[in-house]
Amino acid sequence: MATELLFRDDAYLRTASARVVGVHEHGIELDRTIFYPLGGGQAGDVGALVRASGERIPIADTRKGEAIDTVFHVPPPGAQRPDVGETLGLEIDWERRYSLMRLHTALHVMSCVVVAPVTGGNIAPEKARLDFDIDMSLLDAARIECETNLLIARGVVTETVWITDAELDARPELVKTMSVQPPRGSGRVRLLRIPGIDLQPCGGTHVANTAEIGGIRVLRIRSEGRRNRRVEIALSA
Ligand SMILES: [Zn+2]
Repeated sequence: MATELLFRDDAYLRTASARVVGVHEHGIELDRTIFYPLGGGQAGDVGALVRASGERIPIADTRKGEAIDTVFHVPPPGAQRPDVGETLGLEIDWERRYSLMRLHTALHVMSCVVVAPVTGGNIAPEKARLDFDIDMSLLDAARIECETNLLIARGVVTETVWITDAELDARPELVKTMSVQPPRGSGRVRLLRIPGIDLQPCGGTHVANTAEIGGIRVLRIRSEGRRNRRVEIALSA
């Protein structure tokens, strides 16, 4: 059963309530959720499900199910399981998620400073990276850091835009990421627009204004194979 993805419309929801619709070996399914499931390079959320008794069921990870828009909330081994039909309070680890949102949005900005095909990426709470198909000599850490921070400091309001699969097919230049094609099958594709900076398909969670990122540091740049140059960043504060 498809889960209503509340984070898609409001990435800032820290709490919500939901009903249990399935309890499986690999996770708990809810009718709606604020937990982002691992995908598009962004780590799955952690947090807790709170029963009416106040008992807390920790959630160690969040994963997508096989069917479109299904989400599994994964408790650690040995944790209590709720009952189907039960109403639970949802709480995400907000500090961790907000770091992911800031780093994720920073990668969008950086992908416009380093102009090359993106071959991979990853967003963890402490650091994030993009891999580019580019010559090593074209990557200068100080320049990337400085130009990315200048764009971030513009304080641009980010926007979510939906287009149809057909519209995306007509604009292949929107897809920068060779390794991660935008999710299809629902007939429409979600884009993140940072006006004047970036526009690309993305299902992840982003900050509302680039100023919330603060700034970034380039931790390192290294070669990860013939066509992969990895640029790793962290938040500067
Ligand atoms: Zn994104």
